[in-house]
Amino acid sequence: MSVITIERKILEKNDEIARQNRARLTEHGVLALNMVSSPGSGKTSLIERTLEHLNGKLRVAVIEGDVHTSLDAERIARYRVPVVQIVTHGGCHLDAHLVAEAMTKLDLTRLDVLIIENVGNLVCPANYDLGEAMKVVIISTTEGEDKPLKYPAMFRQAAVLVINKVDLLPYLDVRLRVLKQNALCINPSLTVFETSCTTGMGITRWCDWLLMTVARGVKTRGE
Ligand code: MG
Ligand code: ZN
Repeated sequence: MSVITIERKILEKNDEIARQNRARLTEHGVLALNMVSSPGSGKTSLIERTLEHLNGKLRVAVIEGDVHTSLDAERIARYRVPVVQIVTHGGCHLDAHLVAEAMTKLDLTRLDVLIIENVGNLVCPANYDLGEAMKVVIISTTEGEDKPLKYPAMFRQAAVLVINKVDLLPYLDVRLRVLKQNALCINPSLTVFETSCTTGMGITRWCDWLLMTVARGVKTRGE
Protein backbone atom coordinates (compact mmCIF):
# COMPACT_ATOMS: atom_id res chain seq x y z
CA MET A 1 0.00 0.00 0.00
CA SER A 2 2.79 2.47 0.86
CA VAL A 3 4.41 1.68 -2.49
CA ILE A 4 1.29 2.85 -4.26
CA THR A 5 1.32 6.09 -2.26
CA ILE A 6 4.95 6.80 -3.14
CA GLU A 7 4.33 6.19 -6.82
CA ARG A 8 1.32 8.49 -6.76
CA LYS A 9 3.43 11.20 -5.09
CA ILE A 10 6.15 10.82 -7.72
CA LEU A 11 3.61 11.14 -10.50
CA GLU A 12 1.92 14.15 -8.88
CA LYS A 13 5.28 15.90 -8.57
CA ASN A 14 6.05 14.97 -12.18
CA ASP A 15 2.73 16.38 -13.41
CA GLU A 16 3.40 19.63 -11.58
CA ILE A 17 6.79 20.08 -13.28
CA ALA A 18 5.26 19.00 -16.61
CA ARG A 19 2.71 21.81 -16.26
CA GLN A 20 5.56 24.29 -15.76
CA ASN A 21 7.39 22.92 -18.82
CA ARG A 22 4.20 23.20 -20.89
CA ALA A 23 3.64 26.78 -19.73
CA ARG A 24 7.19 27.77 -20.74
CA LEU A 25 6.88 26.06 -24.12
CA THR A 26 3.47 27.61 -24.81
CA GLU A 27 4.71 31.04 -23.75
CA HIS A 28 7.46 30.80 -26.37
CA GLY A 29 5.21 29.24 -28.99
CA VAL A 30 7.29 26.06 -29.18
CA LEU A 31 5.56 22.87 -30.35
CA ALA A 32 6.96 20.01 -28.24
CA LEU A 33 6.64 16.43 -29.45
CA ASN A 34 7.29 13.50 -27.13
CA MET A 35 8.42 10.64 -29.40
CA VAL A 36 7.78 7.26 -27.84
CA SER A 37 8.29 3.71 -29.12
CA SER A 38 9.95 0.38 -28.47
CA PRO A 39 13.73 0.28 -28.94
CA GLY A 40 14.73 0.07 -32.58
CA SER A 41 11.53 1.33 -34.20
CA GLY A 42 13.40 4.17 -35.88
CA LYS A 43 12.82 7.25 -33.72
CA THR A 44 16.28 8.67 -34.32
CA SER A 45 16.12 7.85 -38.05
CA LEU A 46 12.75 9.60 -38.31
CA ILE A 47 14.19 12.70 -36.63
CA GLU A 48 17.15 12.61 -39.03
CA ARG A 49 14.93 12.32 -42.11
CA THR A 50 12.68 15.09 -40.72
CA LEU A 51 15.61 17.49 -40.23
CA GLU A 52 16.93 16.62 -43.68
CA HIS A 53 13.56 17.21 -45.34
CA LEU A 54 12.71 20.40 -43.44
CA ASN A 55 16.12 21.75 -44.37
CA GLY A 56 15.87 24.72 -42.01
CA LYS A 57 12.19 25.56 -42.72
CA LEU A 58 11.52 25.18 -39.00
CA ARG A 59 13.82 25.93 -36.09
CA VAL A 60 14.09 22.55 -34.38
CA ALA A 61 15.92 21.42 -31.24
CA VAL A 62 16.17 17.84 -30.02
CA ILE A 63 16.36 16.37 -26.54
CA GLU A 64 17.73 12.82 -26.76
CA GLY A 65 16.86 10.39 -24.00
CA ASP A 66 18.98 7.26 -23.83
CA VAL A 67 19.71 4.63 -21.22
CA HIS A 68 23.40 4.63 -22.14
CA THR A 69 25.65 6.37 -24.69
CA SER A 70 25.25 9.61 -26.61
CA LEU A 71 25.35 7.85 -30.00
CA ASP A 72 21.92 9.14 -31.07
CA ALA A 73 22.70 12.71 -30.00
CA GLU A 74 25.88 12.55 -32.09
CA ARG A 75 23.80 11.45 -35.10
CA ILE A 76 21.41 14.40 -34.62
CA ALA A 77 24.21 16.92 -34.00
CA ARG A 78 25.39 16.34 -37.58
CA TYR A 79 22.32 18.27 -38.73
CA ARG A 80 23.56 21.37 -36.91
CA VAL A 81 20.53 21.74 -34.66
CA PRO A 82 20.70 22.27 -30.90
CA VAL A 83 20.71 18.87 -29.21
CA VAL A 84 20.77 18.02 -25.51
CA GLN A 85 21.53 14.48 -24.40
CA ILE A 86 19.93 13.00 -21.30
CA VAL A 87 21.54 9.73 -20.23
CA THR A 88 19.27 8.01 -17.71
CA HIS A 89 21.89 5.42 -16.59
CA GLY A 90 19.45 2.56 -16.63
CA GLY A 91 16.29 4.63 -16.13
CA CYS A 92 13.59 3.37 -18.47
CA HIS A 93 11.78 6.68 -19.13
CA LEU A 94 12.26 10.44 -19.18
CA ASP A 95 10.47 12.51 -16.57
CA ALA A 96 9.43 16.16 -16.52
CA HIS A 97 12.29 17.15 -14.22
CA LEU A 98 14.95 15.76 -16.59
CA VAL A 99 13.30 17.59 -19.49
CA ALA A 100 13.09 20.83 -17.47
CA GLU A 101 16.84 20.59 -16.86
CA ALA A 102 17.53 19.91 -20.53
CA MET A 103 15.33 22.86 -21.52
CA THR A 104 17.53 25.25 -19.52
CA LYS A 105 20.26 24.49 -22.10
CA LEU A 106 18.05 25.61 -25.01
CA ASP A 107 17.07 29.09 -26.17
CA LEU A 108 13.30 28.70 -26.49
CA THR A 109 12.96 32.13 -28.08
CA ARG A 110 14.73 30.72 -31.14
CA LEU A 111 12.67 27.56 -31.58
CA ASP A 112 9.54 26.43 -33.42
CA VAL A 113 9.69 22.75 -32.52
CA LEU A 114 11.21 20.77 -29.67
CA ILE A 115 11.50 17.07 -30.39
CA ILE A 116 11.96 14.93 -27.31
CA GLU A 117 13.15 11.42 -28.14
CA ASN A 118 12.09 9.35 -25.16
CA VAL A 119 13.82 6.19 -23.98
CA GLY A 120 12.77 3.18 -26.09
CA ASN A 121 9.98 1.70 -23.99
CA LEU A 122 6.23 1.48 -24.56
CA VAL A 123 5.28 1.01 -20.91
CA CYS A 124 6.16 3.70 -18.35
CA PRO A 125 6.69 6.69 -20.67
CA ALA A 126 2.88 6.57 -20.95
CA ASN A 127 2.64 7.63 -17.28
CA TYR A 128 5.09 10.52 -17.43
CA ASP A 129 3.84 13.77 -18.87
CA LEU A 130 6.87 15.81 -19.96
CA GLY A 131 4.96 18.98 -20.81
CA GLU A 132 4.71 18.10 -24.50
CA ALA A 133 1.95 19.30 -26.81
CA MET A 134 1.46 15.73 -27.98
CA LYS A 135 2.90 12.25 -27.91
CA VAL A 136 3.95 10.73 -31.21
CA VAL A 137 4.07 6.94 -31.02
CA ILE A 138 6.22 5.17 -33.57
CA ILE A 139 5.85 1.51 -34.41
CA SER A 140 7.82 -0.38 -36.99
CA THR A 141 6.12 -2.96 -39.18
CA THR A 142 8.56 -5.60 -37.85
CA GLU A 143 6.91 -5.34 -34.42
CA GLY A 144 3.75 -7.06 -35.60
CA GLU A 145 0.07 -6.24 -35.94
CA ASP A 146 -0.86 -6.69 -32.31
CA LYS A 147 1.47 -4.15 -30.64
CA PRO A 148 -1.29 -1.53 -30.12
CA LEU A 149 -3.48 -4.13 -28.41
CA LYS A 150 -0.63 -5.17 -26.12
CA TYR A 151 0.35 -1.62 -25.11
CA PRO A 152 -2.96 0.23 -25.26
CA ALA A 153 -2.06 3.00 -22.76
CA MET A 154 0.57 4.46 -25.05
CA PHE A 155 -1.65 4.35 -28.13
CA ARG A 156 -4.55 5.86 -26.19
CA GLN A 157 -2.44 8.82 -25.09
CA ALA A 158 -0.76 9.54 -28.39
CA ALA A 159 -2.17 12.04 -30.87
CA VAL A 160 -0.08 10.74 -33.74
CA LEU A 161 0.98 7.29 -34.91
CA VAL A 162 3.88 6.81 -37.29
CA ILE A 163 4.11 3.33 -38.80
CA ASN A 164 7.73 3.05 -39.87
CA LYS A 165 9.68 0.58 -42.02
CA VAL A 166 6.78 0.09 -44.46
CA ASP A 167 9.39 -0.82 -47.10
CA LEU A 168 9.82 -4.15 -45.26
CA LEU A 169 6.14 -5.16 -45.56
CA PRO A 170 6.69 -7.50 -48.54
CA TYR A 171 9.01 -9.61 -46.37
CA LEU A 172 6.78 -9.72 -43.29
CA ASP A 173 3.71 -11.60 -42.23
CA VAL A 174 2.10 -8.30 -41.18
CA ARG A 175 -0.96 -6.65 -42.69
CA LEU A 176 -0.69 -2.88 -42.57
CA ARG A 177 -4.48 -2.57 -42.66
CA VAL A 178 -4.86 -4.75 -39.55
CA LEU A 179 -2.06 -2.97 -37.69
CA LYS A 180 -3.75 0.35 -38.40
CA GLN A 181 -7.16 -1.00 -37.44
CA ASN A 182 -5.79 -2.26 -34.12
CA ALA A 183 -4.34 1.15 -33.33
CA LEU A 184 -7.50 3.00 -34.35
CA CYS A 185 -9.66 0.66 -32.31
CA ILE A 186 -7.64 1.70 -29.21
CA ASN A 187 -7.68 5.39 -30.23
CA PRO A 188 -9.90 6.45 -33.17
CA SER A 189 -8.56 10.02 -33.15
CA LEU A 190 -4.96 9.06 -34.02
CA THR A 191 -3.47 10.85 -37.00
CA VAL A 192 -1.63 8.08 -38.85
CA PHE A 193 1.46 8.32 -41.05
CA GLU A 194 3.20 5.52 -42.92
CA THR A 195 6.91 6.03 -43.43
CA SER A 196 10.12 4.42 -44.48
CA CYS A 197 13.23 6.19 -43.27
CA THR A 198 15.22 4.01 -45.68
CA THR A 199 13.39 4.92 -48.91
CA GLY A 200 12.04 8.28 -47.69
CA MET A 201 8.45 7.22 -48.33
CA GLY A 202 5.89 9.25 -46.35
CA ILE A 203 8.43 11.74 -45.00
CA THR A 204 7.02 14.61 -47.08
CA ARG A 205 3.50 14.05 -45.77
CA TRP A 206 4.75 13.85 -42.17
CA CYS A 207 6.80 17.06 -42.56
CA ASP A 208 3.88 18.87 -44.24
CA TRP A 209 1.74 17.98 -41.24
CA LEU A 210 4.46 19.27 -38.91
CA LEU A 211 4.71 22.57 -40.84
CA MET A 212 0.92 22.91 -40.81
CA THR A 213 0.68 22.16 -37.08
CA VAL A 214 3.34 24.76 -36.27
CA ALA A 215 1.64 27.33 -38.54
CA ARG A 216 -1.71 26.69 -36.89
CA GLY A 217 -0.09 27.20 -33.47
CA VAL A 218 1.34 30.52 -34.59
CA LYS A 219 -2.10 31.60 -35.82
CA THR A 220 -3.75 30.63 -32.53
CA ARG A 221 -1.18 32.64 -30.61
CA GLY A 222 -1.90 35.70 -32.77
CA GLU A 223 -5.63 35.59 -32.09
MG1 MG B 1 17.21 6.56 -30.72
ZN1 ZN C 1 10.34 3.67 -16.68
